Amino acid sequence: MNRSPNPSEFSAAPAPRRHSVGVRVGEVQVGGGAPVVVQSMTNTDTADVNATVRQVADLARAGSELVRITVDRDEAAAAVPKIKEKLLTMGVKVPLIGDFHYIGHRLLSEHPGCAEALDKYRINPGNVGFKEKKDRQFSAIVEFALKLGKPIRIGANWGSLDQELLTSLMDENSRSSAPKDAREVTREAMVQSALLSAARAEEIGLGRDRIILSAKVSAVQDLIAVYAELARRSDYALHLGLTEAGMGSKGIVASSAAIGVLLQQGIGDTIRISLTPEPGGDRTREVQVAQELLQTMGLRTFVPLVAACPGCGRTTSTTFQELAQNVQSFIRERMPEWKKQYPGVEGLTVAVMGCIVNGPGESKQADIGISLPGTGEQPTAPVFIDGKKATTLRGENLTNDFKKLVEDYVVRRWSAVPPPAAE
Ligand code: SF4
Repeated sequence: MNRSPNPSEFSAAPAPRRHSVGVRVGEVQVGGGAPVVVQSMTNTDTADVNATVRQVADLARAGSELVRITVDRDEAAAAVPKIKEKLLTMGVKVPLIGDFHYIGHRLLSEHPGCAEALDKYRINPGNVGFKEKKDRQFSAIVEFALKLGKPIRIGANWGSLDQELLTSLMDENSRSSAPKDAREVTREAMVQSALLSAARAEEIGLGRDRIILSAKVSAVQDLIAVYAELARRSDYALHLGLTEAGMGSKGIVASSAAIGVLLQQGIGDTIRISLTPEPGGDRTREVQVAQELLQTMGLRTFVPLVAACPGCGRTTSTTFQELAQNVQSFIRERMPEWKKQYPGVEGLTVAVMGCIVNGPGESKQADIGISLPGTGEQPTAPVFIDGKKATTLRGENLTNDFKKLVEDYVVRRWSAVPPPAAE
């Protein structure tokens, strides 16, 4: 029998966070109930100390709470302590993660300054060594982590999946009376690769509070399936990310779809959005997208976001699009200072709307909102503050006038907030 819908059954909240063991990476906690952490990766040659320092600092300033750098050869390993030192001199304390492939065991052993300066080591179980060397080289990296008190991320990757493990699972599958699809076996190999390596690291002595797992793939449904399984079978902290997500909107949409579904299920302790930068594009875009994803899902608050309507035939001018973009950039630029002076300002909500249909209604929902005139409407723009019409703007200076109102609102509302009491 059909039941009448009950509006009180709606729940806007994501599922409770999955329980994971917390891991300290430098001063940042990942998992164990901590808010989901944003991380990013440089694309400079790590051996180029100045370029890498510049990019790490930019990523950290943009809000990256952990930054990974490639450590692929001796010159890169030798540069790591210099990079760390320069960053600390600049006051940038973001934890640095070393990304190792093939020769991590050797680089850590021959460059003790690098091993010490890094806050976490990332190992890929698919390329940490092959056949009899595999266990030796993997163990060597884990032993460095143990000796120096560092955590590791065991990061399996679809593109460099442990071939011995995959072949053995494929063979086993072909002998089964009900063989599975090859894709399903590959997903299972990803999960097992991460979990077996983590179990081996524990056998060597590394605690669960020093292990983060990831299993990155490039297809959305594979990512969701693999992480759901990792979350079901273990309580290790999980790093989420879609690998080779792609450029521009394709990369953003694919990453957001995959990571969003998992976060909604309470899965994931740290995220990275792997965007292919446009030539000459800004690397910090991946940090901005990660923050926006977490914020739009209601999981964290970083920067006030401007709600803007999409526009339609009722407003043919580009004024409101330019105003929305201008106000969002203004807020991003002002945030570093606002955050210091006005605690809580991250919660500010601003609306920029294109016409009278939804403009006043949406603007009243925001802390401060403006409804621009649509085609054929009076050339005036009412501004609503705390749900009430406060003033009307018009003329060429409208953008600056509105930004001034936003600034005044922030000062008035948040300068009254007393600083948090000292512990
Ligand atoms: S607020 Fe007006 S301009 Fe904006 S989408 Fe709605 S109807 Fe169109």
